[in-house]
Amino acid sequence: MNVEPHRRDDYNNSPRPPVLLFLNQAFNLRMTRFLIIIIVACSTAVLRAGPPDWPCSRHSMFPMNDVPTHVRDSSLLLYDVNHYGISLEVNDTSTFISGYTDILATALGQMEELVFELSSSYQVDSVFQDGERLESFTHLADLVRITPRVPPVIGEKFTVRVYYHGEGGQNGFFAGISNRTDLAWGQRVTYTLSEPFLSLDWFVCKQVLPDKADSADVFLTVGDSLMAGSNGILAGVDSLPGGKLRYHWKTRYPVAYYLLSLAVSRYREYSFYADSEFLPDSLLIQNYIYDDPQYLEQNRDGIDATAALIDLYSRLFVPYPFFREKYGHCLAPIGGGMEHQTMTTLNGFSFTLVAHELTHQWFGDNVTCASWQDIWIHEGFASYGEYLALEALVSPEAAREWMGRAHEMALTEPEGSVYIPEEDAGDEYRIFSAALSYKKGAALLHMIRYELGNDSLFFRTLSEFQLRYADSVATGRDFMEVLNEISGSDFGWFFDQWYFGQGFPEFLFTWWQSADSLVVEIIQSGSSPGTPFFRTGLDLELQFESGGDTLVRIRCDSPLMTIRIPMEIPVAKLVPDPGNWVLQRSEVIRKIVSAGYLKVSPNPFGEELNIRFLAGAGDREIILSDLNGRILERHFSSSGSYTLHTGELVQGLYFLKVNEGKETYTTRVVRQ
Ligand SMILES: [Zn+2]
Repeated sequence: MNVEPHRRDDYNNSPRPPVLLFLNQAFNLRMTRFLIIIIVACSTAVLRAGPPDWPCSRHSMFPMNDVPTHVRDSSLLLYDVNHYGISLEVNDTSTFISGYTDILATALGQMEELVFELSSSYQVDSVFQDGERLESFTHLADLVRITPRVPPVIGEKFTVRVYYHGEGGQNGFFAGISNRTDLAWGQRVTYTLSEPFLSLDWFVCKQVLPDKADSADVFLTVGDSLMAGSNGILAGVDSLPGGKLRYHWKTRYPVAYYLLSLAVSRYREYSFYADSEFLPDSLLIQNYIYDDPQYLEQNRDGIDATAALIDLYSRLFVPYPFFREKYGHCLAPIGGGMEHQTMTTLNGFSFTLVAHELTHQWFGDNVTCASWQDIWIHEGFASYGEYLALEALVSPEAAREWMGRAHEMALTEPEGSVYIPEEDAGDEYRIFSAALSYKKGAALLHMIRYELGNDSLFFRTLSEFQLRYADSVATGRDFMEVLNEISGSDFGWFFDQWYFGQGFPEFLFTWWQSADSLVVEIIQSGSSPGTPFFRTGLDLELQFESGGDTLVRIRCDSPLMTIRIPMEIPVAKLVPDPGNWVLQRSEVIRKIVSAGYLKVSPNPFGEELNIRFLAGAGDREIILSDLNGRILERHFSSSGSYTLHTGELVQGLYFLKVNEGKETYTTRVVRQ
């Protein structure tokens, strides 16, 4: 996902409607007639099509002893979803939908009740188990609880069909289904965005990440002036009585509940095939764009760029994971994009947005995070996909600048971790923190690449991770284990500080030059007390007075270090990390040996520190700072001496810096 959240209060002002209790008393005659028609029309297509057409994923059963967090009801863990069949009537003027969801599942435990998730905004009209209508069910607190006539046998499959109608998710940013107008193009669109917990806003589901359905069919009935996009292959468009069309989309790849989608509008199709030597065949790129000739004219290049990106990522990671079906886009005023499997929903075709959502097809869709605490697997990687696209298809300089901006944003969260703490794992705003999950997440991958210093190992790690966890779920720790294996070294320290730890390193570099060498004093502290020190490599660029420069790579393995670099050429400037490889904040002080310029007394000092100037005569800025570079005293003076009153300082080491004209003189002083 790459969308800008609306104001937080949009979300807070959208409480769920009062919970409704239905014991099947509110059945509506008109709806009955509609339902019977649909049952006759669709039951053979969905219920009787049977499992042979639905290949099982390699990881179709999630482990019962590893109970995922944030499960709405523990009964959801008593079955494994094999197939979703969603059949809905949808329009482009409201979020009103009506229809049913079929769930084919396998019983994993003793089930006194069959429990599914569906927003309480909807009215449940009727419920069927294995084709037989059941009278006893409740719909309360977004859960449909069905009393089965005969409990499913453990290990055997059963089907449930739930008919419902209503208007869901009308408010707020995190709404599962929305109806909005794209103001720039005057197009009205109904679309879904279910990540992370809002599939229940439009279909009957089980919102548990490790339980991917093995396949899905989505039937969307719309007015004949509309088109409806969804996942997988468009199996057919049937004309129905009353000027309706029914789009049938089907996917036979495993899919997480929140990656199913619909988008309905006055679209036109603009599609083409992408060829890549890394794919077994040409891949259909199917785009549902606004039905306005101007739209295609203005966006053709952006849409066409998808082909080069498919080729790039198929080369860097593994071949596009859903190559037997397609990749596509549906336009919607979504404020960014959402990586619905094989059919991204997005609001435009900017290069980095298309790249981001496409990268998700590997990281997020093919390999999904095992819990929302590991959203890094989605957003850190997809954001890094933007970097990789710029690096390969635009210019290394554009990529470097992108990373510089990513660092700037990550630096706004000095206390945050990329890993989502347990207590925040239900908070969408924390999960989708742009600074932490996206930008710092991308910076982490870039730093792993830097630490490895070997692109072939880096991309082999990404490929192996894709192969190992294809169609399944994984954690950040799983990625680390693949990295350890491929690289042959233990990255535990890296993940402790950068993934689970908080903040980033802050450096104070003080450097000076003698006749034959350049000396750099490095003081490092963490921006957060949670992670006081970061072990890292770092590049220092030395710019020569005579022009030109050189790069020196150092290893920071201690919070206080002094390094000596043999160097006879006069250096004018030291620039830490010019390539934007390492997330860090730094201050650089050039120390001109101050012995002939000033004298401090006493040193160590107590209540007062006296400074006597031996040279210079201009206006001086006198600064006293601590080891973290925090300025404690700042004074201006042009006299030959100055006294700092230091009674309130605690014991320790301080820096006295004097700026006069273009020169800076620094000396260390100690409070006793
Ligand atoms: Zn994303």
